[in-house]
Amino acid sequence: MSDTIEKVKCLIIGSGPAGYTAAIYASRANMFPVLYQGEQPGGQLTTTNDVENFPGYPEGITGPEMMIELQKQAERFGTDVRHGWVTKVDFSGDIHKAWINEEKEIHADTIIISTGASAKYLNLPSEQKYLKLGGGVSACAVCDGFFYRNQEVVIVGAGDSACEEAHYLSKLCKKVTMLVRRDEFRASKIMAKRVKNTENIEILFNTETEEVLGDGQVVTGVRVFNNQTNEKHDIEATGFFVAIGHKPNTDIFKDYLDLDGTGYIINAKPGTSKTNVEGVFVSGDAADHVYRQAITAAGTGCMAALDAERYLAAKDSDFEFVTPTYN
Ligand code: NDP
Repeated sequence: MSDTIEKVKCLIIGSGPAGYTAAIYASRANMFPVLYQGEQPGGQLTTTNDVENFPGYPEGITGPEMMIELQKQAERFGTDVRHGWVTKVDFSGDIHKAWINEEKEIHADTIIISTGASAKYLNLPSEQKYLKLGGGVSACAVCDGFFYRNQEVVIVGAGDSACEEAHYLSKLCKKVTMLVRRDEFRASKIMAKRVKNTENIEILFNTETEEVLGDGQVVTGVRVFNNQTNEKHDIEATGFFVAIGHKPNTDIFKDYLDLDGTGYIINAKPGTSKTNVEGVFVSGDAADHVYRQAITAAGTGCMAALDAERYLAAKDSDFEFVTPTYN
């Protein structure tokens, strides 16, 4: 461990739309934020191709490009953006402590958690290959469904998310084949009924994915097997959607913050970004299992910066409260 401790007014953990938006607001409010990018700089959007639903980009923008733009915007106002991974925290006292890569120790007056959530994948080599190529594997129907208009797609999962996403896709796509690994849904009855009653959704129970098929660039189909009979068959499809749940990246906070059963941070006061620890705020998917969109993450990033600014102003009369100005 290093013996030099760095003191900061505002530490932002995570570099998705939530973290960068918090950074833009915090830096414009003279909080001199330090932002650690984490393991996947840019967050989940860097695994998305085109983003067409973020207001202000009429022609769309790729996920990685958008994250570079957000980083530049945060840096323009003075955010100190750093590579590094927060590996440990201690929120037991007035000063909030965080350790970077098990080494550097930071003491922060305020912390904004924007660590996001990670979509779960099946982790088949073929799935990961086409995911990395941006060639037809997605974990977000709302983000990517539009690219599969009038095409045939496959979706894996049987929870509420899978049902919601299958239904969403059914309105855009010619056909949606839903792979359910057991002989029943996990989803609520009403959600399951909705997909069962949708004409262009075919549900295959007891069915799992053996391989995502493709031409080396894009997905062309899915090889599935019935886990009762071991029978295999191929389904033609240009899109492979995975909706088997998300894991919020909140493990390091579990000893200090209130989390729900899945690990999402619980807002201490609904409608704010406050956690149960004073001076620690949360934004983005680390606390949101419902909306999970770039724009909602950005919105809560803004809320977290404003909440942190007000907290500092109330605590420290010397703190110069600067209301953000808009050019
Ligand atoms: P869930 O954990 O509820 O469901 C995950 C689904 O994925 C399960 O059906 C599970 O199968 C399946 N699954 C997991 N691993 C695999 C695998 N390797 N292969 C195939 N299938 C797999 O996650 P959700 O994201 O659906 O929901 C999370 C929470 O959010 C829930 O509480 C849900 O109710 C809530 N939610 C509510 C919504 C609403 O009310 N509008 C919308 C979306 C989510 P199995 O059942 O066999 O374990």
